[in-house]
Amino acid sequence: MPFINENYLKLQAGYLFPEIDRRVKTFAAEHPEKAKRIIRCGIGDVTEPLPPAVCTAMHRAVDDLADRASFMGYGPPYGYDWLRHAIAEHDYRGRGIEIADDEIFVSDGSKPDCGAILDIFAAGRNRIGVPDPVYPVYVDTNVMAGNSGGPRTGGGYEGIVYLPGTPENDFVPDLPREPVDLVYLCFPNNPTGSVIGRDALKSWVDYARANRAVILYDAAYEAYIADPELPRSIYEIPGARSCAIEFRSFSKNGGFTGVRCGFTVMPKDVQVQTTDGRSLALHPLWSRRWSTKSNSVSYPVQRGAEALYSPEGRVQVQELIQHYMGNARVLREACLALGLRTWGGVNAPYVWVACPDGVDSWGMFDRMLHEANVVITPGAGFGRQGEGFFRISAFNSRANVEAVAERMGALVGAGAGSAGSR
Ligand SMILES: *Cc1c(COP(=O)(O)O)cnc(C)c1O
Repeated sequence: MPFINENYLKLQAGYLFPEIDRRVKTFAAEHPEKAKRIIRCGIGDVTEPLPPAVCTAMHRAVDDLADRASFMGYGPPYGYDWLRHAIAEHDYRGRGIEIADDEIFVSDGSKPDCGAILDIFAAGRNRIGVPDPVYPVYVDTNVMAGNSGGPRTGGGYEGIVYLPGTPENDFVPDLPREPVDLVYLCFPNNPTGSVIGRDALKSWVDYARANRAVILYDAAYEAYIADPELPRSIYEIPGARSCAIEFRSFSKNGGFTGVRCGFTVMPKDVQVQTTDGRSLALHPLWSRRWSTKSNSVSYPVQRGAEALYSPEGRVQVQELIQHYMGNARVLREACLALGLRTWGGVNAPYVWVACPDGVDSWGMFDRMLHEANVVITPGAGFGRQGEGFFRISAFNSRANVEAVAERMGALVGAGAGSAGSR
């Protein structure tokens, strides 16, 4: 009989979203008259349709496939050259960042890439640094790969170095106090909506270079950065080409959460060590990983992604971002007006809010569900440090967001506690 990957047995139950679902279903069953009123601001999924330029390009691509003369079979395992070129040109070189076309690896999204990247690092030998709270995928993929011990009481795993994000550091973690080999950063952040300034990001790059660590930089929400002072890519920082791998996705800018496309930037300068002390580049290993394990993403999807860089596509993406950022402003202002301590919602589509005194994350979730019929995400689901906070997502229609703002006003006015004094 084969042996199982016992690392999977260490994983704590996929608790957050199933538990949210369970509570919403129970509430709806008990209050059928309110079921239709429920507004979901919980899951970080987009709501608006694809940009028209994408649809046109994808329709045309299907027509290509329907004709023997223009039919395409397997494409290159790293993505078509025209898409890699469009990405490198528009997202990097056009902004003065030195990234070559063959340093772009097209994929079916950042979540898969976050898991796949661990293939090229030694399992069980690297110390992993992860912000807390953060997107749960970084931790769980490392547990699966054998880079952690078992679960700790109170949340998290032994052996992982957690980097707390708190109101004191504006949810931008301080440099690790113990050594790490691989460290994840996510800006603009999910769930806190925090952003990192150039100086702080430079201190991370300097740290990584001095300590020979590698930064895995998740820039899935880069398109939401409106402030020109903020770095949109880690490669804007000198020296990052030798110590950082960047993940990008078309999910949150182009609305591709269901279409599936993203990419990894793997600069040829990133080197890590072998057991016998040699320094080797990761780029050839990442190339090999793709050519062996994947045949890339479908041709119509890559044509759709390419269309995001066309002149019309870029305008339409901006319209989508403006829509969601308008929502974020409404939600943020609603929370501030209630006297709740609020972060994010500027340069990011998430608003992060401190629960009123005496209410924990799940308590706030229940109160919002029962009294306002609004689904939010309890901060505790993103890590220990998320306890006492909740996340509201701006991914919704304007009408829904305005209704949420109005209902929140009524909720706190009706006695959510001493929030106004904070
Ligand atoms: C949504 C999201 C992604 C994107 O994942 P895809 O697989 O590309 O849809 C990546 N990182 C974070 C932090 C996210 O919230």
